[in-house]
Amino acid sequence: MNLPNPESQEPAARSEHETSPQTLCLNCNSPLTGPFCAQCGQRRGPAVMSTREWLRQAADDLVSLDYKLPRTLWQLIRQPGHVTREYLRGRRERFTRPIRLYIVISAISIAAMSTIGVMDLSNLLKDTSSEDLELLEQMFGIEDASNPVFLERFNRRVNTVFPILNLVSPLAFAIVLKLLYWRRHLHEHLVLSFHFTTVMVAVSSILVIPMPSVLLVAGLVALAVGCCGYLVLALARVYGTRGAHLAVRTGLLMIGVVIVTQLISAATFMIVLSNL
Ligand SMILES: [Zn+2]
Repeated sequence: MNLPNPESQEPAARSEHETSPQTLCLNCNSPLTGPFCAQCGQRRGPAVMSTREWLRQAADDLVSLDYKLPRTLWQLIRQPGHVTREYLRGRRERFTRPIRLYIVISAISIAAMSTIGVMDLSNLLKDTSSEDLELLEQMFGIEDASNPVFLERFNRRVNTVFPILNLVSPLAFAIVLKLLYWRRHLHEHLVLSFHFTTVMVAVSSILVIPMPSVLLVAGLVALAVGCCGYLVLALARVYGTRGAHLAVRTGLLMIGVVIVTQLISAATFMIVLSNL
């Protein structure tokens, strides 16, 4: 029996698409010209499919999501500005959407940091001397920073506040780009901003792995140089900036990146420590 559908088409068209080949989209009734509906994007296929067919489609969807994301990330890292430029030219389907990419990579990075205990204050305070600890307590008005109840509440708050504030950085960076390239559309800056911050999150995640301080300093220097080089190439590719303009704008953006990062860290601490 058919499900009642008040907006169904003429009986002739109905019986036509019930028998194969399917000529109308089941979702929006538009004529089908290929494997996907040109109007709504739904895949051609019967309303009720065999379990085998359903599993095949589910596997297809999973695989296409899986290989698109690492491929997009790899191209972002390998060729600064290339994915952004392609995306802004309208070649979008081959890449994971910028916001989704940023959220997935940030979530993986935060989950990894939680797992190895980087976001656990007791781990961070382990190597702090008692004088430094006292200084910290005075600075932030904490009664006893080694109190397990305090540590528990602090960690829980960081794990809530940090992921939310993390979403602010690409938006803040897009505003900095808008100030530097006033005539360009905001959506162009947003795409570049999400791409750039995704690469920064992915690459800087490596630096939270516990390592000797010499390696960490070398890593931070490499990150700053890499960040600068990335911006030079990305600005040249995406906005076509050249010469002195490119040097000045890269410098201003680097200052912007530092200010935004510092503000977000400070805001995280203030929110976490308020009324703790
Ligand atoms: Zn459709």
